[in-house]
Amino acid sequence: MEHVLVTGGAGYIGSHACKALKKDGFTPVTYDSLVTGWKDSVKFGPFEQGDLLDRARLDEVFATYKPVAVMHFAALSQVGESMKEPGLYWRNNVMGSLSLIEAAAASGVKNFVFSSTCATYGEQDNVVLDESSVQKPINSYGASKRAVEDILANFGEAYGLQHVIFRYFNVAGADPEGEIGEHHRPETHLIPIMLEAIDGTRPALTIFGTDYETPDGTCIRDYVHVCDLVDAHVLGLKWLMDGKGSRVFNLGTGDGFSVREVIEQSRAVTNKAVPYEEGPRRAGDCTKLVSGSTRAEVELGWTPDRSNMNQMIEDAWNWHRTGHYDG
Ligand code: UDP
Repeated sequence: MEHVLVTGGAGYIGSHACKALKKDGFTPVTYDSLVTGWKDSVKFGPFEQGDLLDRARLDEVFATYKPVAVMHFAALSQVGESMKEPGLYWRNNVMGSLSLIEAAAASGVKNFVFSSTCATYGEQDNVVLDESSVQKPINSYGASKRAVEDILANFGEAYGLQHVIFRYFNVAGADPEGEIGEHHRPETHLIPIMLEAIDGTRPALTIFGTDYETPDGTCIRDYVHVCDLVDAHVLGLKWLMDGKGSRVFNLGTGDGFSVREVIEQSRAVTNKAVPYEEGPRRAGDCTKLVSGSTRAEVELGWTPDRSNMNQMIEDAWNWHRTGHYDG
């Protein structure tokens, strides 16, 4: 069986990717420091604990498994934190990725799938965000991801490291079979925070900013179901293994939801009130991030069929009530 090295395989998106890879006949090897990930979520293949900055450890893991490809999820991903501690983001996300990319190139790996973000586009008024849009990130998180995109372009030229870059919009939902789900400590993302407010494990959700230039004053995002998102990664891996070359794909649905709309849908799905209060803007937030591209559908044959808001909230709610990790 072919091995795929999955960095961040113990995290939210990485663990779902491992499940999808296993279903497709690959053996996912999780490489994770467990700084933000959960060992309990590693259920679909071997686990190797390690830091991206530990080059000797990476070399050892590449030599042991001889992976056909790398899927690189391991990263810090909080916009707010990235504005307060940019050094953390440049060290972990940029230097960590450089160490991994160098190790991959040195071991002869030719296929690399990278999780990037729509935050690389930044604040753009009335611009349709497709893969050729200018990238001008307004937060350190987005800047760190864009830097890694540049590193991959250079390593592609120098070593033939073919790469698929996925620029995610907002990821939500959980495994419908309930084996894995979203679990961050501390939690910072809108939907899980809202579910905590609904079930009373936190007093209320704070809406970050109600004076944006949007119809209801709150930020607009494009939400994708985590299972659809990882399906695109398996398609991207096959794209590379078929020799189709380096390519960038947005992963979003093209539908935008404001924070207030997500609150309203959550009330409808759970049939419970959402306690919330209105607060100031969070530094680094863009007004609106919605994908304007169907390249992944057209070229990869991606069908994001679970990415409707009700389904995402329902799957997240089921996981929230029934699933958890102890370690
Ligand atoms: N948000 C909010 N309150 C929260 C968390 C998030 O109002 O407690 C808003 C945030 O300002 C953004 C949207 O919800 O407009 C999505 O934020 P999240 O952190 O989930 O993802 P991001 O877009 O930062 O990747």
